[in-house]
Formats: sequence, structure tokens, C-alpha cells
Amino acid sequence: MEVAPGLHWVDRIWDTKVYVLIEGERVVVIDAAMPGRAQAVWRFLASLGYPPEAVDEIWITHADIDHMGSVAALKARSGAQVVIHRADVPLLEGTADRELGPLPLARAGQQLFNWAIRHLFRFKPVTVDHVVEDGDDLGGWQVVHTPGHTAGSACFYHAERELVVVGDALNHHGGRLGAPPPLFSIDMDQAYTSVKKIAALDFEICCFGHGPPLAERARERVQALADSL
Ligand SMILES: [Zn+2]
Repeated sequence: MEVAPGLHWVDRIWDTKVYVLIEGERVVVIDAAMPGRAQAVWRFLASLGYPPEAVDEIWITHADIDHMGSVAALKARSGAQVVIHRADVPLLEGTADRELGPLPLARAGQQLFNWAIRHLFRFKPVTVDHVVEDGDDLGGWQVVHTPGHTAGSACFYHAERELVVVGDALNHHGGRLGAPPPLFSIDMDQAYTSVKKIAALDFEICCFGHGPPLAERARERVQALADSL
């Protein structure tokens, strides 16, 4: 589905939203879903007339298994550059454990979660090619650091085109907007501050890691959520 000119949502992937951005010569995949989803991305690209080798960059909104799971497979086949915010590099490169929110049995829960990432989902880490920070420019797209869900959560924002891709800094389920879930977020105060930071941007269309995009007047909806926090 084409959300905005050149920005497609890979609708064959049902669990996490993966976007394909085509701008002139450049092809970008945004987020990498769970392990085992690369084939769906290649099929989608083929339907647009592009081979895997056409992908130049893979932007990761944050290093959770459902957003980075297929990154190694995508990178291996395409040779694309992997882009992520500095604070999530250790998770993507497999050198740190994912921290969670205040769970009951916090330590054990966290150990089990990280065990599952490595052994159940068999996550394959990758080397990051391009480390970004808040405010960095990715050819017209601005990196907006929105920590809280993970330390390195980031949105990709195009001011001129009034578009923002927010990953899990916000979610959109059943027509309702929400902040990230506390159980899976390292710092809810930061997460709420990040929602306000997104609301301060100027955009019409908002694309989420989970749930359908908001195609019009999205900023007003995000502002309403920010005001309620
Ligand atoms: Zn997610």
C-alpha cells in the first residue's frame, strides 16, 4: 500500500510495519520486522520492479526483535547500509541485553526475554554502517531522537513532505493512539516527553511500527495524546 508518494507499507508483513521508501534513485527499507520476513520484503520490492540489490539503506527505528529481526538477511542480500541511532547500536550489534520496564521478577524476566531473542528467535546481529544522532539529516529526512521505549528509539521526519515514521514511540491500535507499553519501555517519563517532541513537529501523515498509518491531520491526533499525558 502506498501511504504517500514513494512511501509504501509492505502489507504482506502482518506483525510489524515495514516501509519501503523510493525517492528518485534511492531505495530505503524502514525497519526489518521479525526474523524470517526478508522474503516478503523482496517480493514486495519485486512487485514494484526492484531487485534486492536496489536497496541502498535500511533505517531501523529501534532495536527490538520485531523491528530488527530480519536485518541481517536484508543486509546480506542487498549490501545496504544499516542506519540506527547511537544508543541502540549495542542491541543491533548483539553486544548488550534489551532492558525492559519494571517487571515483576525483573531480572529473571529480562534474562528470559534476552534468551528468547538469541535462542528462540535466533536473532542475527549486524554491524551498523551509519550511526545517527538527533537532528542528523538522511537526505531530506531528519532523525528525531525519541527515547523511552528503547534508549535509541528514533523517528524519521520529512518536514517538507509533512511525513513522520515513528516506530514504537507511538502506536495506533483500534483507532486509538498510545504511548509505548510500560512493560517493554525502559523509561516512561522519557517516552511521554518523546510523544510531546513528536507532537511539536509539523506533519500530516504519521506511520507507526504497529497499526495503520494516520493519513491526515495526524499531528492534531498526536497533540491530543500529548496533552492527555
Ligand atoms: Zn514493535
